[in-house]
Amino acid sequence: MTESPVPAAARVVRPAVFLDRDGTINEDVGYLSELSHLTLFPWAIDAVRLLNRAGYLVVMVTNQGGIGRKMIRPEFVPHLHAVIDQRLAAGGARVDGWYSCPHHPAALVESLRVDCACRKPAPGMALDAARDLGIDLARSWVIGDKWIDVQLAHNVGGRAVLVRTGWGRLEEAVRPPGQTVEAICDSLAGAVAFLLEADHGGPGAAA
Ligand SMILES: [Mg+2]
Ligand SMILES: [Zn+2]
Repeated sequence: MTESPVPAAARVVRPAVFLDRDGTINEDVGYLSELSHLTLFPWAIDAVRLLNRAGYLVVMVTNQGGIGRKMIRPEFVPHLHAVIDQRLAAGGARVDGWYSCPHHPAALVESLRVDCACRKPAPGMALDAARDLGIDLARSWVIGDKWIDVQLAHNVGGRAVLVRTGWGRLEEAVRPPGQTVEAICDSLAGAVAFLLEADHGGPGAAA
């Protein structure tokens, strides 16, 4: 479900940082269904701003199976995202695209009870964004608090950072067999610092 499509046009292909929402930029409260339950982490706005200034597209990718499960009103999601956009804008930060998956294998809404191509770790949202926004997936990253976020990155040939906020500490303790990840950081702030150094730092990079 694309909420803020950008018309496809001739444009430069850029790297993106795909961000998970709940547990990564804001406190994970279970099914976030009321604006009053939104708490952005104190570093979230500046972390996004750093990515903007470094030239990455910033794309939010969020599983919102609570829509199909009738825990979340469908119209609430774009409203919430508009509010987050406003708070980011007030701090000089910007999200280039919002993508959410309303499906769930146990959805009560029959039309949403599907084995979709967009529920993370399936790559649908990242592939849609790549087409909509012009993204070089191999130079891109996913930051999230669950292994499904890491798997999304690897499913599209990108790189990933797991953060210990949200579910991250629990996830870290139950790493799936054979699961790799480029880094595990305490928060989005650390993850952004890590990837900026990985892409732009290193000996001689700023000589
Ligand atoms: Mg999450
Ligand atoms: Zn889906």
